[in-house]
Amino acid sequence: MARTIQPDCRQCRREGCKLFLKGERCTSKKCAMERRPVIPGQHGNSKRRVAFSEYGTQLREKQKVKRMYGILEKQFREYYETAERMKGVTGENMLSLIERRLDNVVYRMGIGASRKQCRQIVNHGHITVNGKRVDIASFLVKQGDVIAIKENKQDIDAFKALRETKIVTPKWLEFDPATLSGKIIALPKREDIDSDIKEQLIIELYSR
Ligand code: SF4
Repeated sequence: MARTIQPDCRQCRREGCKLFLKGERCTSKKCAMERRPVIPGQHGNSKRRVAFSEYGTQLREKQKVKRMYGILEKQFREYYETAERMKGVTGENMLSLIERRLDNVVYRMGIGASRKQCRQIVNHGHITVNGKRVDIASFLVKQGDVIAIKENKQDIDAFKALRETKIVTPKWLEFDPATLSGKIIALPKREDIDSDIKEQLIIELYSR
């Protein structure tokens, strides 16, 4: 019997890798990529992925990262253009910029189970940066910023539960469950970000 695949999971199947869009489900046996890691649709029964052209491979890599972080094309291109103007390696700069988005930071701090959920947490005004409410998911954090759950929202059950949770964060930031706040210790470097992203392919695509 055919199973219903959730829209988010179809995106992972399309990209052929786990994009971690569904929170806890992504690390459980319910993950569609654990059950049946093939492309959905017409060629879904094929065990072999379709071979892409060079352009197709570059395009797929861009789509993968956009889906992973939930970013639309216009803003994604803006990250590339900003990264190109910065000193250093453009691809690494681009990933660092994306990683510094407030919704991603909230996700990395373990406040929400997925980036999508964390975007809602930010949009709903539950997060402060250096004591001020920030409800813009694309807000870019900087070194030294203090990110916290707004004081009058800390009694929401989901946030209260965090106090009992052991949270492992990447080394460029920290989160203290006791105070429901954390800090950006350093800006994220390439080695701090998902290693299976091939950012050079995306740079090649935009440089065409
Ligand atoms: Fe679905 Fe998450 Fe698995 Fe992707 S990683 S297929 S979103 S459960």
